[in-house]
Amino acid sequence: MHTLNDAAYSGRIDLHCHSTASDGILSPAQLVSRAKSQGVTLLALTDHDTVAGLAEARLTGRDLGVGILPGIEFSTRWGKHPVHVVGLNIDTGAPALQRAIELRGRLRRQRAEEIAGRLEKRGFAGALEGARALAGDSVLGRPHFARWLVQAGHVEDSAQAFKRYLGAGKAGDVKVDWPPLEDTVATIRAAGGQAVLAHPLKYGLTRTRLRGLLSAFAACGGRAVELLCGRQNPVQTRDLQRLVASLAEEDGAPLYASLGSDFHQPEQPWRELGSVHLPAGVEPVWKLWQTSRQ
Ligand code: MN
Ligand code: MN
Ligand code: MN
Repeated sequence: MHTLNDAAYSGRIDLHCHSTASDGILSPAQLVSRAKSQGVTLLALTDHDTVAGLAEARLTGRDLGVGILPGIEFSTRWGKHPVHVVGLNIDTGAPALQRAIELRGRLRRQRAEEIAGRLEKRGFAGALEGARALAGDSVLGRPHFARWLVQAGHVEDSAQAFKRYLGAGKAGDVKVDWPPLEDTVATIRAAGGQAVLAHPLKYGLTRTRLRGLLSAFAACGGRAVELLCGRQNPVQTRDLQRLVASLAEEDGAPLYASLGSDFHQPEQPWRELGSVHLPAGVEPVWKLWQTSRQ
């Protein structure tokens, strides 16, 4: 179990960010230092499909007085639609969690090999070895292929790599059959954590479909939704807040409110650590574990 004291809730709270353990560019230690300098007192590290950065984050958090909440951002799917679910306050040693992480590791390795094969067919020999070398211990993904394409002189920068070869509809856009939403929520619950639907406004769903997703998520044990994630305009936030409230009334399925920057790198100031704040009148997700503690 976590051992957060009240001081962890006294400053800014950020429950979604990434380190070099997945596709962030700061090490867990650097990330926690930066969070400290931004006034963050409670940080959940939520790397994609891994908890490998947590031990280092905890050590730095202890030194600097930043509360570290163990988290993860799982790739999953609602029907055929890819969605992300954040697990907060998880027991990182739970067997169910470890199995879910291993499965996604396999799926990501298969995808990386498929991407490399497609790039090599286009004449980019050595893509797999090159991207692997850049990834080091982190999970190999498209950002590493992008960096390799830049390094090998095939493109000017990562943006061009995505535009030409890796982005939607391009050769490197390999779909993965992620485990379904219900399984993912069950995994997080089995690890003693709270399942949070990540960035609900980023899936390109109509209001009706989004309502369906929220409803399905709550029905299978999801407990919270990111009311704010990264850059979001206040009108969108208010609409989402209303949608969640109406769902609670009609379905009797209250979802608590979470928030996070989705920080990946310092060069993206619109998702700086600690930069988002919950609006008044919502029940914050941390109520769930604060009350269960008593
Ligand atoms: Mn990412
Ligand atoms: Mn995400
Ligand atoms: Mn994220």
